[in-house]
Amino acid sequence: MVADCVFCRIVSGDIPSERLLEDKRCIVIRDIHPQAPQHLLVVTKAHIPTAADVREEKLPLLGHLVMAATKAAEQVGIAKTGYRLVINNGPDSGQEVPHLHLHVLGGAKLGRLG
Ligand code: AMP
Repeated sequence: MVADCVFCRIVSGDIPSERLLEDKRCIVIRDIHPQAPQHLLVVTKAHIPTAADVREEKLPLLGHLVMAATKAAEQVGIAKTGYRLVINNGPDSGQEVPHLHLHVLGGAKLGRLG
């Protein structure tokens, strides 16, 4: 838990959130500024700043986040129509919150990456 980290505060319940899913490693919430009709965030419970900080012993965590995204996509009805998974990593990606999370974007035809 990092006191000034918004996602740590959401995970701890300090900031209330609607949790679409929760398990021992992550929660799934809605993005406060959605960039698609469905924009979910799969947020790790542990404070790990970026995907680049995931070391070998934590590699299963990344697979776990993808599985949680799959379940959440089914739950909000975008599993069949498709969706995009995004992990921003560092300044040039525009990463705003330095706490590992996976964006799940869908619910409409998305523009190209760039
Ligand atoms: P990133 O730029 O990859 O770090 O993404 C951080 C995301 O967190 C942004 O899309 C924000 O809109 C979102 N966000 C920031 N604060 C909150 C919050 N309190 N609840 C839900 N989403 C948030």
